[in-house]
Amino acid sequence: ARQFTRPLNDLANQFNTLLSAVAGAERVFAVIDEPVEQDKEGAQALQTMKGNVVFKQVSFSYEKNANTIRNVSFDVSAGEIVALVGPTGAGKTTIINLLSRFYDPKSGQILVDGQDMTQIKRESLRQHMGFVLQDTVLFQMTIRENIRYGKLDATDDEVEEAAKQANAYSFIQKLPNGFDTVLDQDGSGISQGQKQLVSIARVILANPSILILDEATSSIDTMTEMKIQEALHTLMKGRTSFVIAHRLNTIQQADQILVLQDGKVIEKGSHEELLTKKGFYYGMHYGE
Ligand code: ADP
Repeated sequence: ARQFTRPLNDLANQFNTLLSAVAGAERVFAVIDEPVEQDKEGAQALQTMKGNVVFKQVSFSYEKNANTIRNVSFDVSAGEIVALVGPTGAGKTTIINLLSRFYDPKSGQILVDGQDMTQIKRESLRQHMGFVLQDTVLFQMTIRENIRYGKLDATDDEVEEAAKQANAYSFIQKLPNGFDTVLDQDGSGISQGQKQLVSIARVILANPSILILDEATSSIDTMTEMKIQEALHTLMKGRTSFVIAHRLNTIQQADQILVLQDGKVIEKGSHEELLTKKGFYYGMHYGE
């Protein structure tokens, strides 16, 4: 997932630098919101945001003469959970990179609610997307401000309500300074699992229609892990969710599983459908 998180980590570093130079969070965000990549001429704001996502024969490569993603097609209805599975290097992260428009397809089309993504302003698109990544991006500021990053004009009540829904409230309350605890750089001072809960609270507050989850592979204690799973369940409800999934439990619950290999979707369907097929997924499932 390194390629995918890099743009976001850059943003975090940029943010920390700016934060020390500029007073007032709103001005900081005004600076950051300047698009890094130019939108196409005539790009529009999203007309609607229900969360239907269609990939139509999408091909992409990072370098010339390579084919990282080949003719990938799938159709996701609003509110569905999609699990991306497959071996390392299969293209899962690249699909997420395309969906978040860190890159545009070489050929084919990605449609969001029927609108061609390349014709939509990036900012307008990303406003409707939420990310929960393995390497949680937390800033050197209070937990309250870290959560509020999801919605800058949120009241303290809204921030605390989001923390409750994310199962983060009780651990935050127990910290000596509660919501006003200032996190160290990189968010150290709280555990990896607690960082995840804070980042989930942030996304709950942002209330996006499309959710992108990169399921953690690192070990987190069982109790926190259960809290994370429950919080993610709350978060995914009613949103179109793309999960780079490692846990069988997550994969089984998905409405659609996209099995990737060498940049191609080699199988798709629900867990039951794919087991019945006795193909690659079946092999993955019983072979390991
Ligand atoms: P996965 O997430 O399934 O492990 P990726 O989408 O990260 O797979 O990688 C797909 C292929 O693209 C791999 O061969 C990988 O080496 C290559 N790749 C990924 N990111 C880049 C990049 N920024 N530049 C060049 N090649 C890349």
